[in-house]
Amino acid sequence: MRNTARQTRENRTITVNFQSEAAYFQLLGDRKAFLECVLASVMSLGLQLKHKATCRGGGCLTRHAHSVRVRLGGVMIRRLQCTTCRAVFTILPHFILRYRSMHPDVARNALLATHGGLSLELCAVLYHISPLALYRLVCALGQHSLVIVLTRCGLPLPTYFLADEKHSRCLADKVYLPTIVSGRVLWHLGYTTEASATAFTQSYQAFQGAAFQQEPSYRVKGVLTDGFDSTTKSLRTLFPGARLGTCLRHALNKLPKKLAAIPSPLRKALRAKCHILLYRARQRKGLRVFALGQRLRHFADYVAHTAGTANGERVRRWFQEKKAGWYTVLADPQMPVTSTLLDQAHNAIERKLFAMKGFHHSRGRQAVFLTGLAHLYNLIPYQRRALNAGKCGVEVEGGRVPTSDWMLNLQILTSGGFH
Ligand SMILES: [Zn+2]
Repeated sequence: MRNTARQTRENRTITVNFQSEAAYFQLLGDRKAFLECVLASVMSLGLQLKHKATCRGGGCLTRHAHSVRVRLGGVMIRRLQCTTCRAVFTILPHFILRYRSMHPDVARNALLATHGGLSLELCAVLYHISPLALYRLVCALGQHSLVIVLTRCGLPLPTYFLADEKHSRCLADKVYLPTIVSGRVLWHLGYTTEASATAFTQSYQAFQGAAFQQEPSYRVKGVLTDGFDSTTKSLRTLFPGARLGTCLRHALNKLPKKLAAIPSPLRKALRAKCHILLYRARQRKGLRVFALGQRLRHFADYVAHTAGTANGERVRRWFQEKKAGWYTVLADPQMPVTSTLLDQAHNAIERKLFAMKGFHHSRGRQAVFLTGLAHLYNLIPYQRRALNAGKCGVEVEGGRVPTSDWMLNLQILTSGGFH
């Protein structure tokens, strides 16, 4: 039934916060008050209702068409119709989840536990639901694009961002999660079974397409990657005008591998020296690109002098290969310098990846499931003792959420009835 509904009819459901179940049932008896409450709620969100393409609606001309009793514990669900375009909006009270008999309070706890890293199976045991029901709930959230939900929160599309793929496994297969992060929010979390530029392009294109739909003039100015070939190729294809920088911290982590057959203390000392070099290059704003080139040459000479010519030569060639990406980072003060925040996001998602394995099958909905997890990552507030305690990623980045309740925000922001 769910599939046919999705195919034949546009999803124009909106979740409205009626404060309490009692208030909702009281309003059901008063058509005028009900309509006013819904319109006031929509207005306060600052969002537009999704009328038909030809309608200019604006949300002020809706009237009651009919009300239908839907079998969700026998609660009456009202529908409103636009008098101009006849688009019908289903008004879902906040205490009901679309197509689900699960109560939002149960969903809230189970989602929070999932987000915290508990397996779907254990969450299900704790909250007396089936693991599949929880999986489907996350997938239902994942039907809605990250770009749409984040822009509904008033966040501008990111002109600078971090992009990288998480390498993981699903059952016996290697899989990759192409990811776009800007500050504390995930703008894209994809899923590919190949590490090719073509596969990554296809995944990142989903973000690009959604972004262009929001803002046709969207331009990316800078992207920071760890320099993986398929990543840079795919991003260059999709965002030809963007500067592509390489993460400085990744570089530092790679350096020890370039230094063969030397005592460990010397390797550590050289890494520390390189760290200071890159750090100082960042500090000095004006001439830093020029200064970096010169310093890298000196550093390679120093390596040759202290660790032998073979190591010196290897480091020099590696610098040669990577320095363009580092210059890019240093040339534009707005470019992100390290991909730390992206690594943090990946680590947070990593704990839930095994949950996907239990539900993996050939026609699985991995991408949708991951998008659902990404919504949780963006909208669930940080713990009390965290740096941004009580705020969610969206708020940390300057976005606004409809209410102070993350679960309600999730329900409202993933409503299909908004434009
Ligand atoms: Zn209309």
